[in-house]
Amino acid sequence: MTGSGEKETLRRTTRITLAGFILNILLSSFKLAGGILSNSNALVADGVHSLSDCITDVAILIGAKFWTRPSDVNHPHGHSRIETLISGFIGFFVVITSVYIAWKSFGAIMNPAETPPGWPAFAVAVIAILAKGILSRWTFRISRELKSAALAANAMHQRSDALSSIPVAVVVLAARIEPSLIVMDGIGWVIVSLFIFKLGIDIIRPALWQLSDTAAPPEIIEELRRIALSVEGVKNVHNLRTRYQGDGVQADMHIVVDGSMPLEEAFFILKKVEQDLYLMGPGVVDVMVRLEPG
Ligand SMILES: [Zn+2]
Ligand SMILES: [Zn+2]
Repeated sequence: MTGSGEKETLRRTTRITLAGFILNILLSSFKLAGGILSNSNALVADGVHSLSDCITDVAILIGAKFWTRPSDVNHPHGHSRIETLISGFIGFFVVITSVYIAWKSFGAIMNPAETPPGWPAFAVAVIAILAKGILSRWTFRISRELKSAALAANAMHQRSDALSSIPVAVVVLAARIEPSLIVMDGIGWVIVSLFIFKLGIDIIRPALWQLSDTAAPPEIIEELRRIALSVEGVKNVHNLRTRYQGDGVQADMHIVVDGSMPLEEAFFILKKVEQDLYLMGPGVVDVMVRLEPG
């Protein structure tokens, strides 16, 4: 990646994350003000959640300054593990949120509220569902364009926030139709907490795979082997190892060439193998090839 490409990645990552940060500040202000004015503890608690959502935005705003840096003396493999760590942190945060919501739902089932949340809570919930839903789609799109695992993690977090506003909206409507339907409150929270828990695990899993140096899937390894073997003069490929660096694949391997070949010619073959792997290898960002006579 060129220097200007890294700056552009940082600029776009910062812009979308700042948009999410500002939305969280706005939503939490609405919820806290509305909750205090209408004496609704549920809305105040929701406002505190929106305020805490800023934590994952801040983690990305700070982390992106580091993970978009090119490799240097201290981090010769690049800084993408920092992005992986932050993705894992976001997943952990989402799981904690789901546990908190499950705990809250338990309270709502044991002691159902006597009056449903009012229309202000409904309005805030609908705004939150729409705003977070749109923001999540936008963040997902940019995460794909930038191949950013941390932005994808934050997009899933935003989706979980949209989900967590659904029970409030549903219970307000349901209780207008039939007051006893207020019991849906607790059940709604249980369902939502399960969805959010799954989202959190889905964020954590790939981060753990990367941190534990899990290899690329077999079909990718086969493809890399095929590319190396198709270079003229390569007799054999072995010790093919892969692992992930951010969303990119890092590969190393031994190639066997005719031992009586002049070094210059053998080195040319090695260069061609590396070049082809960069050009055609799926997701390849780093290649190391060792030459062996055979
Ligand atoms: Zn959240
Ligand atoms: Zn070998």
